[in-house]
Order: sequence, then structure tokens, then C-alpha cells
Amino acid sequence: MNLHSRYPLLFSPLDLGFTQIKNRALMGSMHTGLEEAENGFARMAAYFAERARGGVGMIITGGIPPNEEGGFGAKLSTSEEAEQHRTITAAVHAVDPDVKICMQILHMGSLAPNPACVAPSAVKSRIGAFKPSELNEEGIEKQLLDFANCAALAQQAGYDGVEIIGSAGYLLSTFLVAKTNLRTDQWGGSFENRMRFVVEVVRRVRAAVGPNFIVIFRIAAMDMLDGGMAWDEVVTLAQAVEAAGATIISTHFCWHEAPVPTIATMVPRAAFTQVTGRLRKVLKVPLITSNRINMPDTAETVLARGDADIVSMARPMLADPELVRKAFEGREDEINTCIACNQACLDHTFGGYKQVSCLVNPRACRETLLNYETTARPKRLAVVGAGPAGLAYATVAAQRGHQVTLFDAASEIGGQFNLAKRIPGKEEFYETLRYYQRMIAKHGVALHLNTRVDAALLASEDFDEVIVATGIEPRQPALEGIKHPKVVSYIDAILGRKPIGERVAIMGAGGIGFDVAELISHAGPSAALDSAVFAREWGIDFENHPRGGVTGVQPQAATSGRTITLLQRKTDPVGKSLGRTTGWTHRLTLSRRGVRMVNGVEYLKVDDAGLHTLVNSEPKLFEVDTVIVCAGQLPLRTLFDDLQTQGVKATLVGGAFEASELDAKRAIEQACQLAAEV
Ligand code: FAD
Ligand code: NAP
Ligand code: SF4
Repeated sequence: MNLHSRYPLLFSPLDLGFTQIKNRALMGSMHTGLEEAENGFARMAAYFAERARGGVGMIITGGIPPNEEGGFGAKLSTSEEAEQHRTITAAVHAVDPDVKICMQILHMGSLAPNPACVAPSAVKSRIGAFKPSELNEEGIEKQLLDFANCAALAQQAGYDGVEIIGSAGYLLSTFLVAKTNLRTDQWGGSFENRMRFVVEVVRRVRAAVGPNFIVIFRIAAMDMLDGGMAWDEVVTLAQAVEAAGATIISTHFCWHEAPVPTIATMVPRAAFTQVTGRLRKVLKVPLITSNRINMPDTAETVLARGDADIVSMARPMLADPELVRKAFEGREDEINTCIACNQACLDHTFGGYKQVSCLVNPRACRETLLNYETTARPKRLAVVGAGPAGLAYATVAAQRGHQVTLFDAASEIGGQFNLAKRIPGKEEFYETLRYYQRMIAKHGVALHLNTRVDAALLASEDFDEVIVATGIEPRQPALEGIKHPKVVSYIDAILGRKPIGERVAIMGAGGIGFDVAELISHAGPSAALDSAVFAREWGIDFENHPRGGVTGVQPQAATSGRTITLLQRKTDPVGKSLGRTTGWTHRLTLSRRGVRMVNGVEYLKVDDAGLHTLVNSEPKLFEVDTVIVCAGQLPLRTLFDDLQTQGVKATLVGGAFEASELDAKRAIEQACQLAAEV
């Protein structure tokens, strides 16, 4: 066997006895919303086929419930439904018969947004929509039959295997943990009883599909719950599931309701794989590990440490369907890296089950709708502004064959991403800039930095079209004392161009206000770059593995010691507008560092004494040394207006088009859409 020179482990096959997986790269399961979409199966077929073409060894589909009570939309309990799934398996195997595709069986239990939801006990989850009904003996038997039936139907549909999710707070995991399993019969009480249902599911599934079918069991190897599973329980369960017929065990590290981030951008890469490594030592079957593994060198390192046999990358495959192929061909610098922002994926899933996509790759889950086809009529295009919008537009248009010139007044590409990347926990933004730098070179975009463009310059050149991606200017509230020396813009604060005092008021608590608070409140190395710091900050004990990994461990905030107050005018809770799946992490981090958050504020003036306000109509003086203004942004359209006056055809994109509620997701998506059509 010839080993790959750079990734010998990642690109070695895994022998399962009855079959082989061609490499160790797995696309992990993600619910995308295509499961319930119109034309969803054709779209899923295109989505998965693109990932198969991209070189991945095995794919796990989004979770499919085995019955109605186990979910809210898609399910697999009939032959007719199995027939629809054939579209997916046929498309993947047509690309490469050696790529395995397994269907995840997801019974959501008490997390199903369905009034008919069921659970071992009638315990409502903190994040569930409904209180579940307690399963009686007959109900339990029905669930077991439904699991087995679902697995048999998956086999009939052409899948190579199934993954049974036994973690995250879904049905199986609620049997395992005492706080959600209050039963006193054979399905509750001792751990042996609590795991009975889970082991029986695996046993029945194996019996239904025979020996030559992959059965993966996903275990919460560290569930991050106070009073969650103890390490010896994890081991006992894993060994019992192995004995019951699991081919592979996949490790997961959370329940959705656990107050510890496990995949957000402030989580270090591969932070949890050591736990998989420990479990691997006591099992015979291969182990899958996951969480924040987004580049091939991280995957190879994890395998080399002996932490796992297979590395799961889920969101990274949304960001770049060709990740594995690019690694194989030595084109790592072309990988569009997942920045773990959750903005277009999990925030969509958990924010009302909207369809998923990806901030850095808006084609994700739109493979049949958004394509970058070679143009028949190449144009000479000028793109002004190399922020996310201008970069996305320029590189997609050039990829399609247009002749693109990209200007930026700054000395480096990236626009506001050059501010974002300086925030502790947002280091992944560097990867996006590296990707675009490479795409500029690859697709032959003519880049002119340090070039502030005006309408005269553009008019003097013979461009067919001008794309104005000039971004924003920070809003400066009309306030007495706004020019006082203690008032600092967020740009100056982030770039360290002005000193920041010990007592600080931050005016505006949107995404940037929170980021600035993170920057000036933190001390020491970024948790995202240091697993030990991360573990201390979130109260995780990897070494001793108390129950859930967290029981009895106090989070320790490292703070700069500044007295910081984050202010907003709205009376909504501060931070309400932050991302659905990440906002809580920012609020919790800052409050642990002692940052005060005040809403219902009316700003009056700034003077030597500080920031004068009314809080809920009561006068209040914040005696601070520095006031940092993070009061939103306005579109920067001077150039566009000048071009209009001169009759030059121009298109607005990104912040220059609309600054209100702008984020990089919207900027990149709009740019890609426009560049696909030009
Ligand atoms: P910009 O990024 O503002 O880029 C505009 C570019 O145009 C600049 O490089 C500028 O130099 C150039 N330019 C302007 N005028 C001219 C001219 N006349 N000639 C030449 N060049 C010109 N968004 C998210 O989605 N997620 C986040 O986590 C996130 N975090 C952020 C953190 C911080 C600290 C900041 C400041 C922003 C963050 N954002 C985030 C917002 C995101 O960066 C913006 O939405 C995005 O950058 C907007 O892209 P844009 O291309 O429209 O504009
Ligand atoms: P933002 O989220 O719109 O927040 C602006 C803040 O300024 C709000 O708190 C707003 O609340 C306040 N404000 C608005 N007008 C004001 C005025 N005239 N005087 C005083 N305060 C005023 O915008 P942002 O923080 O500038 O961020 C820009 C974009 O970048 C956002 O859309 C955001 O999504 C994106 N971003 C995202 C992240 C992320 O992690 N996802 C991080 C950073 C930035 P009140 O009116 O209630 O005071
Ligand atoms: Fe990764 Fe963000 Fe894309 Fe989700 S939206 S896949 S977290 S880059």
C-alpha cells in the first residue's frame, strides 16, 4: 500500500471485515432542512454527491426519525419513504461506489418539536418545546420495533449502514441519565437498567440488518451535564453496545442543553478528541471522533495521537465539499475553512428549522440552485472594496471567466474581517482571508491594494461594470461630548490605536459591542488556541472526568481586571440579537468576567466625569475613563453616488448596499448570487 506522504493515516483505508472504508475522513451528520424541503430528495442527492466527489470516505446523512413521535417532519417508517431515499444512495454510489453513506436514525425524544413527543419520563427539557409523554411498556416496545424497522428500510434504500444517535439529549440519551430517567421499572434506576433500552435498540437494529451492514452508535463520551454520565458508565455502555453489534462507535461531547460550548468558534480545534482516545483503549471496534476538526493537518494529528480511527468533519464539509480531495492533492491553501461561526448552519437549524447553508460557502445545500458556470460573455469588471463582499464577488466572477480588477484602499484584503480576526476566539477568520488570497491568485484577479478609488479613476478605465463593495462607516451618535478625548471608536479600540482605561462603558451591545467587550475583558492567551485555558474557562476536567466532565468543577474566568459596562437603548435583554447557538456563550463569558450589561439606556452626554445617561428614565452617571462607541454602521456610498452622477453602471453589494443588520453571511451570499449572474 502506498502511503500518502503528508497524510498517511487520513488516507489509509479502514478494514471493517465485511467491507472497507477508503479513507478516514467522515462527513458527520447534519440536519439541513432539505429533509423537509420541496424537491428535497433531489437536492440532497446533489448535495451528498458533491461531497462524495470531493473525496470523503463515508457520509452520515442528517437525522431521520424512525416514527412520527420521534421528530417533526421527515421520517423513515414505510417502504414508500425508503424508495425516496434511493435517490440519495444511488447518486452517491454513482459518483464512487466505494464511498459509504449511512443514514442517521434520530429519535428526538423530548426535544422533538411535536406535542406527541415521548421520553422515558415526563421531564421537559430546558430547551424542548413540549413536555413529553412517559413511555409505557407497550410504548417502549413500539419504539424498539420502529428503530429496527427504520434500519431495515435504510438497508432496503441502499444505504451502507446506519448511525444511531445516543447522545445530545435525544431519546436514547434521556434513558441514560438519572435526571431525565425517573423510572423504577427495568428501564430505570441502576445504570444497568438505564442503559437497557439503548443496548436493546442496537441489538434489535443489528438483528434487523444482518452482519454485513455498518451500525454506528453515537455515544456522549462527555455529556457536559452537571450530574451527567460518569466515565465508568460511558465505558460500560460503550462495551455493551459493542457487544450488542455496533460496528463503530462515534463519540459526541454534549447535550444540546449543556452550558459548555463544544463546537463554537472559541472552542480550540480538536479539543475533545483526547476523550475518544481514552475510550478507544477499552474497545475493540473502531472509534470516530469529532468537534472542531476543520483542516486536514488537525485530522492527521488526531489520528497520529491514536485518539481515533476515523475523523468526523461535518460543518467543514458544508464550507468546502472538496476539502478531502484538496488535501489529497496538496491544495490545502485552497480549502475554504469552516470558521465555526454557526451563523448559516446551526443557527438556522435551531432558529426555527430554517434551511441550512454556510457563511463562507452559500452554495452549500443550494447545489441545484446556485452554480458558478463559465460565462459565455466575459466582461471587464472593477470591484471596489476587498472586504468579504468584494472578495466573494471578485473571486466567483473571475472563476467564471470574467476579467476582474479588485481595488482596496487598505494595505491588505479583508475589510472588517481584519478587525474580527483580532477578537480572541475569532482566529479562524484568518483562514477565510488565506482562502480568498489564494482564490485571487488562482483565478487571476488583478489586485490593487493601497488604492483608494474614485469615480474619475473608474471612468477613465474601460470597465463594463463597476461593483461597489465599499462597506460601511461606523455610526457616530449625535451626542454632546462625542468628540471628548475619552470617546474611542470601535476601530481604534480593536486596532489598539487609542489607550483604553480601567473603567469602560461600551455604547451599543450588538455583535461588535460584544466582541469589543470580549477583547478588552480577556487576559492571557485566547481559549480558542489553548485547550487548557478553554477547559479552565468553561469548567471542564478532562483528566479526572467527573460526571459529565464538569460536575463539581468551577469555571475560572481570566479577566483583564477592567470594570466594563455594556449598554444599549433597547429594553430587550442585552445580547438578544446574537446568534441563536452562540449568543449564550458570549453572554456567559462576559458575565463571568464581571461585565455589567444594562438595557433601557438613554445617552445624554460625555464629559470629564464620564457618560451621563438616563437608565429607565432615572439619571445615571457612568464614571468611566473610556467610552467605546459600537453604535452600528451606515452604508458607505460616496463612490456609488459619484458613479451614478457620471452615468457609470454600478452595482452595490454588501455593507455598501445595506448596513442595517449586515453580517458577513449576508454580504458573501449576496455577492456570490450576483457574481453567479453577471
Ligand atoms: P467591509 O468589510 O467593510 O469592506 C469594505 C472594504 O472597502 C474595506 O476593505 C475598505 O478599505 C474598502 N473601501 C472602501 N472605500 C473604498 C474606496 N473608495 N476605494 C477602495 N477601497 C475602498 N460578521 C459576521 O457575519 N460574523 C462575525 O462574527 C462578525 N464579526 C465581526 C467582528 C468585528 C469586530 C467586526 C468589525 C465585524 C464583524 N462582522 C462579522 C461583520 C462583517 O465583518 C461585515 O458584515 C463584513 O465585513 C461586511 O463586508 P463588506 O465587504 O460589505 O464591507
Ligand atoms: P448591530 O448589531 O446592529 O448593533 C448596533 C448597536 O448599536 C445596538 O446595540 C444598537 O442598539 C446600538 N445603536 C444603534 N443606533 C444607535 C445610536 N444612534 N446611538 C447609540 N446606539 C445605537 O451592529 P454592530 O454591533 O455594529 O455589528 C455590525 C454587524 O456585524 C452586525 O449586523 C452583526 O451581526 C455583525 N457582527 C456579527 C458578529 C457575530 O458574532 N455574529 C459579531 C460582530 C459583528 P440600541 O439601539 O438598543 O442601543
Ligand atoms: Fe462553518 Fe459557519 Fe459555514 Fe456553519 S456557517 S459551516 S460554522 S463556516
